[in-house]
Amino acid sequence: MSEDTKPCPFCGNVGGVSVVEGDTYRWRVAQCNECGARAPDVRMVTIGAGTKEEWEAKAKERALFEWNSRA
Ligand SMILES: [Zn+2]
Repeated sequence: MSEDTKPCPFCGNVGGVSVVEGDTYRWRVAQCNECGARAPDVRMVTIGAGTKEEWEAKAKERALFEWNSRA
């Protein structure tokens, strides 16, 4: 899984993106550590096959993908 993220489009911060909880515990969102700018939220899949850790990893991946596609 890639941790590469594009620089923040607002403050130019590089490599300082965290994936944090969104509005509820099922949502994850990539957020700039510097200015707090956020990419669109992604919903964590919590049904079907997989463990909580796998769901979490997938949600993080998608949150970072959202970050990179917007930036
Ligand atoms: Zn920023």
